[in-house]
Amino acid sequence: MKLGISSCLLGTMCRFDGGHSRDRFITDMLSDYFEFVPYCPEKMIFTTPREAIRLVKNDDEIRVKTSNGNVDVTQKVEDISKQLANEIQNDDLCGFILKSKSPTCGMERVKIYPSDKGMSEKVGVGVFAKEIKEKYPLLPIEEEGRLGDAWLRENFLMQIFSYKNIFEFLKINPSIKELVEFHTSYKYIIYAKSHQAYKELGNIVANHEKKDTKTILEDYKHAFLNAISLKGSISNTYNVLLHLYGYFKKDINKDEKTEILETFEEFKSGLIPLIAVIKILNLYIKRFDIEYLKAQRFLNPYPKELALRSKVEAYR
Ligand code: SF4
Repeated sequence: MKLGISSCLLGTMCRFDGGHSRDRFITDMLSDYFEFVPYCPEKMIFTTPREAIRLVKNDDEIRVKTSNGNVDVTQKVEDISKQLANEIQNDDLCGFILKSKSPTCGMERVKIYPSDKGMSEKVGVGVFAKEIKEKYPLLPIEEEGRLGDAWLRENFLMQIFSYKNIFEFLKINPSIKELVEFHTSYKYIIYAKSHQAYKELGNIVANHEKKDTKTILEDYKHAFLNAISLKGSISNTYNVLLHLYGYFKKDINKDEKTEILETFEEFKSGLIPLIAVIKILNLYIKRFDIEYLKAQRFLNPYPKELALRSKVEAYR
């Protein structure tokens, strides 16, 4: 499973000052699950160390200039960014992590300086980041800075693993029956993001317009990639828990019902993490051997060692 990464995040000494921006979560945690494909546009066109570059507003245009303002390097940075963005399609990536704040790699809130003296504004997008966002609008992309937020981190990793799963699934040239199975296994992951999105996916699978399988699969892929790019919410996740509970509530006693519903409320109030609730649900799913729920990816969306559901902050 390949992940594109801004090289300096891996510890490569390619920053303008000859240093790196190694990120421990990426190098120590994600390295067990992903093969990293490093990209550093600046290293390919400048020497290291080098004069820093910045985004500068010139009338209505954003230019890239050296920080002393003497050299305009816009064309060079745009050309290499386009070239690398084109190469990405050969790399079979399932996501990308960009270096925040960089005039080349920053995904958002990059400083834009005025051409004369004055304050910068954090409203820019790095040249390379802009290129890959435009070229691959459905590729999961995040910045290392934002991944410090447990909620964004959980959503991003969920998106990456789902992205990988749909492409692996499509490689087998599935039948409509297999598509139904895939769709069903994602029911509660999508529910936790948007009921509407699940309904739209269901309409594609139902195929009322009698389209051919190839078109259905293409439509489904597009809608699925959009759906998994949505962020989940604590209230939708709470509703999913109630749905799952509905499969065995008639088979448990009053005390057990009270206990599990209290656990859901504690999750909703941010007192306990989702993993604690899932553990209890899994006990009942095993006890009553509920095959339909065992197949739900919501209960097992990515390697548990990533521990993304162990923090109460991962849901909001
Ligand atoms: S932010 Fe991007 S361009 Fe700058 S050093 Fe890191 S990888 Fe290279």
